[in-house]
Amino acid sequence: MANARALDRVVSTSIEQSIQVETPGHVALGATIAAAIARSALTAALVTMGGLAASNVGAQPDVRVIDVHVHADPVADYGVTGSGPTPTICSDNVGITRLGWDPRAPFRFPASTCRGTRWPAPRTDADLLRETLATLGRHAARAVVMGEPDVVATWKAAAPDRVIPAVSFFRDSVDANGRPVLRDLAELRRLVREGRVAVFAEVGPQYAGMSPADPALDPYFALAEELDVPVGLHMGEGPPGGPNVQGYEHYRVALGNPLLLEPVLIRHPKLRLYVMHFGSPFVDDMIAMLFSYPQLYVDVAQNDWGFPRAHFLGQLRRLVDAGFAERILFGSDQMVWPQAIDLAIETIESAGFLTPQQKRDILHDNAVRFLRLNDRRASGHARAPSTSSRRT
Ligand SMILES: [Zn+2]
Repeated sequence: MANARALDRVVSTSIEQSIQVETPGHVALGATIAAAIARSALTAALVTMGGLAASNVGAQPDVRVIDVHVHADPVADYGVTGSGPTPTICSDNVGITRLGWDPRAPFRFPASTCRGTRWPAPRTDADLLRETLATLGRHAARAVVMGEPDVVATWKAAAPDRVIPAVSFFRDSVDANGRPVLRDLAELRRLVREGRVAVFAEVGPQYAGMSPADPALDPYFALAEELDVPVGLHMGEGPPGGPNVQGYEHYRVALGNPLLLEPVLIRHPKLRLYVMHFGSPFVDDMIAMLFSYPQLYVDVAQNDWGFPRAHFLGQLRRLVDAGFAERILFGSDQMVWPQAIDLAIETIESAGFLTPQQKRDILHDNAVRFLRLNDRRASGHARAPSTSSRRT
């Protein structure tokens, strides 16, 4: 797996510190993650799905949560073969200590402390789909589900009212030089036209060693702007160990700085973009961008369960105190651990500095406004994008 693939997906993302190699015999997580991004090529989807607008036909009035960051990945990508050890995540994000690495030894995915139990991944794709949809159902949640179009189509078919389909600008494969491969613009345009894609996400140039302002991406942002399709852009932590982790050699911390977005937003003023992981840990820079680009939103995915809770809540409080409680979207970054959705929601609910309305904003109402959904429940709260009246 030395030649990493185009790392646009979050599989990758900040695979949290709390994933651990639990036993000496456990497959090295670096390889596990690399496998996660070494996905098969796109195959033609046969299922015609409703797009964002169409998917709101029969919008659920009882939706309470919108998760703008759910992956539809094969569990095998995470090293789950049905016979080998299963990667686990920590059930608790309190009291995490990140352990170090003595470089005299070969690099291993850094372990961290976990004072909770450990959750294994489901063993099959069918289990992952069923358990994730069940979890979303318990929270009365809808979700932006990201992945290969054929896989996302399967999810959409299983829960038409719950799944908002998304695809990245990037393919999962890389070229002969190990560089990322972008999808054909015509393919993306067709997927949107057919209602099979409603959001472009998770776009992760940071994993490919690219700035979001890289000229190669400009036609894609132009397409999103033209089609009025929201874009979810990864800017944040990668796996603990960053470019030391096999499969993440191109990842760079500096390429997650939200200030890099400025030329993109200048060139595409009508682009609807949410910064996944809110540019963590560059919160001050993110605040600067939110202030000057009111069309910009952020999500809090992965950081809301995979990072030490006090640290995350401190970051969230900074964003809220700066006045951006109505620009924060809930996300889980569910990969192959559906329980992460529970922990992420519980973490938001635990934030004592948030008012009940701010929690509703983050968990639901802000996404209704940003994604232009029609959930009736939100109609009494969400405002048209062009208005700015304060809630009383
Ligand atoms: Zn991400």
